[in-house]
Amino acid sequence: MIDLRSDTTTLPSVEMLNSIVSAPLGDDGRLGPSGRGEDPTVNELEDLAAKLTGKEAALLFPTGTLANTTSILSYCQPGDRVLVDPKMHIYKTEKIVFSDHFGQLTPVFYSMDTKFQPNFDDIKNHIEGSDIKLLCIEDSHNFQGGTTLNQDSLIALKKIKEEYGVKVHLDGARLFNASIGSGIGVSDICSAVDSVMFCLSKGLGAPIGSLVCASKDDIKKLRELRKSLGGGMRQAGIIAAPGIVALNTFSSFLKEDHALCRDVADGLNDLINIKINHPIDTNIIMLNVSQTGFTQNEFCDLAEQKGLLIKPVLDDSVRLVFHRDVPRDSAEKVIEIIQDLDKESRNGGKK
Ligand SMILES: *Cc1c(COP(=O)(O)O)cnc(C)c1O
Repeated sequence: MIDLRSDTTTLPSVEMLNSIVSAPLGDDGRLGPSGRGEDPTVNELEDLAAKLTGKEAALLFPTGTLANTTSILSYCQPGDRVLVDPKMHIYKTEKIVFSDHFGQLTPVFYSMDTKFQPNFDDIKNHIEGSDIKLLCIEDSHNFQGGTTLNQDSLIALKKIKEEYGVKVHLDGARLFNASIGSGIGVSDICSAVDSVMFCLSKGLGAPIGSLVCASKDDIKKLRELRKSLGGGMRQAGIIAAPGIVALNTFSSFLKEDHALCRDVADGLNDLINIKINHPIDTNIIMLNVSQTGFTQNEFCDLAEQKGLLIKPVLDDSVRLVFHRDVPRDSAEKVIEIIQDLDKESRNGGKK
């Protein structure tokens, strides 16, 4: 079975597991005079994350969702208006900061343009037309097929920050995929935003953890809020250690993940009823199956019968995600299965 459901299924490498055994540990919730916790491995990971993103400081969270939620709440008060695109993970999947019972923030929607970039004219109009507290961006964009921000977008983003003083939070769950895919350095991407979240637990292959990187002042606020929300951890060096391994080794496998993704996409360029409506920038392919005659779930079930695990996303698509645990020689088999499903679907979607 080839499993392309998500890059969250990646299992920790032997090197990662070994790193846990020898990691120096301490109580990360017990702060010293510098405001840092007592777990040296957590501190090492946070320093490494800050350095890679070009930010002053970083903070470890158990999940990307808690990291995003804490970041957004730290910039906002209940009732504040936050710019999001409706397909972004923060709005579509997480939602909690916009809940009447929790974050009580008001979402204001901006559109994406035909190049899969945020529509900055739209964003400007919203900022000029009302009081916007925070702008949220996603790179790479999960539900848009792993598309990446281009250089023009980063320039536009910096301009908006300078001109209007609005804060920007980047959901960079797959930040390192985005950097490799766009050819733009990680710290160059992050220089256009105030805070950035990235996940260790997706394509980077670590078992647990996400980081937020930002200014020292912002991280200090985040640390307090993280504790209140129950996100403080004690000997968290046991999850930080594999994270350090991930950050020191990702460049050797993320590129291969992208190459495999591209090979599969290239092999699917003559599909009839299944559509790929986005550029292949990173490790994700979205197949629009609305013309196949199959429901998304039927499509996934049929794929599974042929040896391919995939997942429905949005209302009309299924998603293929490539990662280090996908056998490097599986392109041909994946292409064959999708091509077969495409052929079967032409007969009215029935076998
Ligand atoms: C997975 C993901 C998150 C959330 O991370 P969790 O660790 O699963 O909470 C946030 N944003 C994007 C774009 C993601 O893909």
